Amino acid sequence: MTTPRLFIVIPCYNEQEVLPITAPMFLDKLKSLAEAGKISADSRVLFVNDGSKDKTWEIISELAKEDEHYIGISQSRNRGHQNAVLAGLMEAKDKCDITISIDCDGQDDINAMDKMVDAYLDGCQVVYGVRSSRETDTFFKRATAQGFYKFLAMMGAEVVYNHADYRLISSRVLQEFANFKEVNLFLRGMIPLVGFKSTSVSYSRAERLAGESHYPLKKMIALAVDGITSLSVKPLRLITGFGVFVAFVSFIGVLWAIITALLGRTVAGWASTTCIVCFVSGVQLICLGIIGEYIGKIYMETKQRPRYIISERTWEQD
Ligand code: UDP
Ligand code: MG
Repeated sequence: MTTPRLFIVIPCYNEQEVLPITAPMFLDKLKSLAEAGKISADSRVLFVNDGSKDKTWEIISELAKEDEHYIGISQSRNRGHQNAVLAGLMEAKDKCDITISIDCDGQDDINAMDKMVDAYLDGCQVVYGVRSSRETDTFFKRATAQGFYKFLAMMGAEVVYNHADYRLISSRVLQEFANFKEVNLFLRGMIPLVGFKSTSVSYSRAERLAGESHYPLKKMIALAVDGITSLSVKPLRLITGFGVFVAFVSFIGVLWAIITALLGRTVAGWASTTCIVCFVSGVQLICLGIIGEYIGKIYMETKQRPRYIISERTWEQD
């Protein structure tokens, strides 16, 4: 096997503080991997600017001028982390043999890349980076992140536990993945669906080197909803199950009502009626909301809008 060409794919959104610190780290890692003979010397660090409003794209363009190993593409507007990673992977898939996607804030330990490339050389097509500990996260971040994985699993969306979007994917797998046309993206749940031999390597997650997180609770919840609706219809089944249960209880209620009426023991049941009406209408609204969530996703899918639009590249296209 010839030494593989690696593209490190890095989504960046408003990262002007951290990029000048981490960019040289990625380049050093690329060079040390090349020196060790694990990857070819024409490997690249590919930045994906996700419509940043600060100087991120200027910094990427400057880097590309300084060293040919740095290249960048820019999305025409901010589309979110998942779409940025996808844009980078699709850009890379025909140009390299392996990709490693990683955040640009230095939180994911770049030294795990050695183990990832080793696993690829051993025949794995996908290597998941898995966090071994979350000691450096705040208690709140840790609790919400763990709740996120548990909730996903409960709702039938199986994902690799504590794996975010730090992973190696071979271009072989990406060629197949390109056939997954959905616009509702949840990469960490979709990549396992492609199959092929995979493994995981663990690393410890550090604190952000600079700048601040773009993943507040609101975005985490949105990601969880995307993940569940993208991978599973279990919530719909739960509704059905719950509907059957409520229908059964109602049936008993109806029998009870008829019997008491026949016995002439009916009383002014205002409180019980109100409780039942409130409860059932609440349940119905929640169920409608869940169904609506799926219909919304179908609506977005049928439009088949592009998942990313690349407006600029740091190199001339042939
Ligand atoms: N990111 C992006 N688009 C966005 C939000 C974030 O490309 O709309 C990138 C961001 O630059 C970083 C990665 O996604 O490289 C992860 O974001 P962040 O570090 O803010 O999330 P956290 O690590 O706190 O979950
Ligand atoms: Mg981060």
